[in-house]
Amino acid sequence: MSVTVDRELVSFCAEVGATGPVAVRGAGTRFEVGGPLAPETRVVAAPAGIREYRPEEMTVTVLAGTPVAELHAALSAAGQRSALAERGGTVGGALALGEDDLRVLARGKVRNSVLQLRYVSADGVLVKVGAPTVKNVSGFDVGRLMVGALGTLGLLAEAVLRTRPTPAVARWWCGEGIDPCAVRDLARSASVVLFDGTTTTLQLEGHEVDVDADLVALGRLGAFRACEGPPPLPPHRWSLRPSELLRLDGHATGSYVASIGVGTVFADRPQARREPPAAVRAVAARLKAEFDPSGRLSPGRDLLAAH
Ligand SMILES: Cc1cc2nc3c(=O)[nH]c(=O)nc-3n(C[C@H](O)[C@H](O)[C@H](O)COP(=O)(O)OP(=O)(O)OC[C@H]3O[C@@H](n4cnc5c(N)ncnc54)[C@H](O)[C@@H]3O)c2cc1C
Repeated sequence: MSVTVDRELVSFCAEVGATGPVAVRGAGTRFEVGGPLAPETRVVAAPAGIREYRPEEMTVTVLAGTPVAELHAALSAAGQRSALAERGGTVGGALALGEDDLRVLARGKVRNSVLQLRYVSADGVLVKVGAPTVKNVSGFDVGRLMVGALGTLGLLAEAVLRTRPTPAVARWWCGEGIDPCAVRDLARSASVVLFDGTTTTLQLEGHEVDVDADLVALGRLGAFRACEGPPPLPPHRWSLRPSELLRLDGHATGSYVASIGVGTVFADRPQARREPPAAVRAVAARLKAEFDPSGRLSPGRDLLAAH
């Protein structure tokens, strides 16, 4: 089996080659993030399939073209899941985008869930970074650099991801006039706390006894009622300091839903572009020059504009 997979990796590497502008398309659900590709760019697909799942080690080795839904179906057989959001995309696309799932407080950050990556470099070489163990030696972690880089530093072929147990229970609650920060502080089993200026909505997940205990404690803050899920999320994703979230008044955002303790706001209107500091631009330019001196990987994508 590994011979077949290695053949797939080698053929992906050959397809990317060493010259000419090239990018990977996953399921195409967020393909325009960061701006359109330069017109002459060759678009290729990463190989798909689950290579090795070790539930007892809580790791899974998966090829980048695998749909996240397929990965999660395999993990759920052993009562586990990954940090990746399941919204129709592929593993490679989710890593290249690097956006965390709404329930990041429980699922963990996508970047932190990557243990090892294999990617095709700008000179067409298959590179392995990281190690397939949960207790990695820390240092200069190239794998984490690739997360959120939109395929501008390397084209992802395979990942070893950390998995987590699926909670025994997961329930949504909401209520009006309740301080969302107090909810976040009090409810240790909260996987997400959302606030739209009026209603606080949260999901509690974990062992039933912990969820029940949190619910009793939350009763001190106000009256909660069970609900089906999160409110509809407006389309634009803003990034703010957590301290700025509660100062939102809807003037700039239109209607909004803020994710408390995370720094993400889903808003009706797009966030005004903020110029990244010169030092950030300089580091990004140096990294790009180091990883992709000829600028052939995903040309046209503006990483700093996307984030
Ligand atoms: C309306 C909508 C909202 C969504 N919101 C969220 C959200 O808030 N959070 C979230 O996590 N997910 C969200 N998703 C899901 C998201 O689209 C996927 O989880 C994933 O991020 C994109 O996967 P894809 O395969 O469709 O990528 P694509 O759209 O095909 O590609 C996205 C980017 O990744 C690059 N890329 C793809 N594969 C590779 C690879 N192997 N190597 C290098 N670069 C690659 C592409 O070149 C492109 O730049 C949303 C989806 C939709 C439709």
